[in-house]
Amino acid sequence: MRIVLVGPPGAGKGTQAAFLAKNLSIPHISTGDLFRANISQGTELGKKAKSYMDAGQLVPDEVTIGMAKDRMEQPDAVNGFLLDGFPRNVSQAEALDVALQADDVKLDAVLDLEVPEDEVVKRIAGRRICRNDSAHVFHVEYKQPKTEGVCDVCGGELYQRDDDQEETVRKRLEVYHTQTEPIIGYYQAQGLVKTISALGKVDEVTAKAMEALGR
Ligand code: ADP
Repeated sequence: MRIVLVGPPGAGKGTQAAFLAKNLSIPHISTGDLFRANISQGTELGKKAKSYMDAGQLVPDEVTIGMAKDRMEQPDAVNGFLLDGFPRNVSQAEALDVALQADDVKLDAVLDLEVPEDEVVKRIAGRRICRNDSAHVFHVEYKQPKTEGVCDVCGGELYQRDDDQEETVRKRLEVYHTQTEPIIGYYQAQGLVKTISALGKVDEVTAKAMEALGR
């Protein structure tokens, strides 16, 4: 299956994507994770991306589209993938369509995670993620690790992403509304959008998502 996950920052895209990718045996491709990996490795691409990310802005398409396409061309993604955080504006969605058409394949679904705005700010401001694996996500109130600052899963150090500070979160939400939300209409025109509520327990949301995908 080829799936795109959309939803505001803090909707739980990364958390859901990890479970869904495992259930569906397809790779989870997160452009945010790819950027963060480049930043921690000190690559040129990472240097370009960092200032945009810290300001809550989108990284320019010239950088993002090439990086996403390179990842989608890896052998593990031949039979499908779950895209998380890409496309994030209409021109990225158009570039993705062109790339898929060139391979003579199509998207199967666009899963839209809905969550109220005040909930989003609470979720993100308290979010802590593991340095070893961004799928290991905790929250200072809702999902406390057994030992403060330490990942329950692998013992890695928990940290707050630079772009999870409240002011940057508000900017990211604004960018989501103005630039990313229009892709929902773009995909509705192709009949691909399945909308589910992202409120509730993680496994309940995963179950709703699997049902929406017809699995
Ligand atoms: P979230 O979904 O919580 O906002 P991500 O990890 O997906 O977090 O993205 C973090 C940041 O990485 C974004 O605010 C943006 O700066 C950058 N980014 C990720 N994906 C893209 C993309 N497709 N296009 C442009 N910038 C992106």
